[in-house]
Amino acid sequence: MDNLYNETLFIMKKYGITANKRLGQNFLIDEFVIEEICDTAEVSSSDLIIEIGPGIGSLTAVLVEKAGKVISIEIDSKMLKILNDRFKFYNNFELINEDILKVDLNKLINANLNEKITKCKIVANLPYYITTPIIIKLLEEKLNVETITVMVQKEVAERLTAIPGSKNAGAISHLVYYYADSKLAINVYRDSFIPAPDVDSAVINIKFLKEPRIKIDDEKLFFNIIKAAFSQKRKTLVNGLVNNKIFDSKESAEKALTSIGLDTKIRGEKLTLEDFKKIYEIIKGG
Ligand code: SAM
Repeated sequence: MDNLYNETLFIMKKYGITANKRLGQNFLIDEFVIEEICDTAEVSSSDLIIEIGPGIGSLTAVLVEKAGKVISIEIDSKMLKILNDRFKFYNNFELINEDILKVDLNKLINANLNEKITKCKIVANLPYYITTPIIIKLLEEKLNVETITVMVQKEVAERLTAIPGSKNAGAISHLVYYYADSKLAINVYRDSFIPAPDVDSAVINIKFLKEPRIKIDDEKLFFNIIKAAFSQKRKTLVNGLVNNKIFDSKESAEKALTSIGLDTKIRGEKLTLEDFKKIYEIIKGG
């Protein structure tokens, strides 16, 4: 860890960089973790890697050695000179100075796949302040992507990889489970970063299924029902569904739950994806 620690401090000093907390800048200084991220993603020469938030380029440096092509998207223009200097001699590296949430990823990915670079993977040490919007974007945009391997806050990792119906599940667990298999790959302690964040982290791997796990025609309605179910933490499912106008009355919500064999006092986190499909079908059926 010492080499990367010293190199990180050296680069920050040389380019006059201080970590910008607002942009979630925590730079990785643990070579072992970086190797593990690349191993988890199974980065190979036929891969197009989209990296979100390269920062000063510590993860990027390993990715460019292993991947067919790396496209790194960084919002902070202060990082551009560092990255362009560092990867000047790599013709498989491209840098885009943009907010990831504004990038047309479908267009970018399709323009960069060819006979040699045949599949796309997303790899990143994500900025924690926008983890959820990024994950939602990556899942909902139906990208031509095989896997997502990202470092996130440990609690978020547990939530993202929770099987619906289990303890840590939230609305986003259903979204991940609908599209993919996921697993928590490595736990990472806070002292693997400069500056050390206030929380521990974990690397997760999300592997897209060929087709969503269940067949739903109106995904917008389906996920609105799930969001409603989780909208009020300590309240029952019925309250969440009625307060968010999924059902127009408590009675109709209770009647629907009873008709599919669920207790009317049940909480949202207890429901499986199949249970939500049954509620969705009742609502669709009018
Ligand atoms: N990859 C580097 C590493 O592992 O050391 C830096 C990771 S740091 C946790 C997150 C990076 O994401 C920072 O470089 C930050 O500037 C960048 N970032 C923050 N918000 C972003 C956004 N909306 N779009 C693209 N990059 C963003």
